[in-house]
Amino acid sequence: MKEVKCQWCGSKGAKKEMSCEAKPTGKLNKNGSQKYIRKYFHDDCFEAYKQDKKFKENEAAEFDELYNYLLDLHRLERLDSRMIERIQDLRNGTVKYQNQKVKRYKEGVPFRKILDAYKFSEQQLRNVHNYKTLESSWQEFTYFLSIVISNMNEMKETNRRSKQQDVIRTNIINKQIQVQSEIDIKIKPKNIRKDELDISSFL
Ligand SMILES: [Zn+2]
Repeated sequence: MKEVKCQWCGSKGAKKEMSCEAKPTGKLNKNGSQKYIRKYFHDDCFEAYKQDKKFKENEAAEFDELYNYLLDLHRLERLDSRMIERIQDLRNGTVKYQNQKVKRYKEGVPFRKILDAYKFSEQQLRNVHNYKTLESSWQEFTYFLSIVISNMNEMKETNRRSKQQDVIRTNIINKQIQVQSEIDIKIKPKNIRKDELDISSFL
């Protein structure tokens, strides 16, 4: 039985039992047919691989959107590597400490949420120049980012509070519904005769 290596976990499996991803190379075989690159996976590994691929594509798209937003905000042609590193750190929940990456937060902040926080802070950021002189792009970048991070914490707190409010509200409503249905049950007559249901006598 021919065995091939799984491109996800690295261990071997029977070729005919594995999932295959085939990509055309754009080149042709000698007989004129399309040449493919084939990757093999265990079925479970293929699911994990596809999810990972989707996640990465999504990350890349979200990062691009944030990147372009920052170019516009800071009026820059490109972000330098230090700036990108700061954004990546925020994404990964890491911080550079004595030249090593240290996990600082429980989890990072998705690029989409970072962008939301920038947009939320935009007016505040655009006003910074009215009261503060920022000498370089790097100074501006770090100053803006610190405002955004502090707003992010505030947004989180507001969110937490409004979620809490929602829970309280829902509990109150549920309680009212429960009380109402208990009342309904109590006032429901046990045996209703048909003629009692006839409302014509009230008209
Ligand atoms: Zn595998």
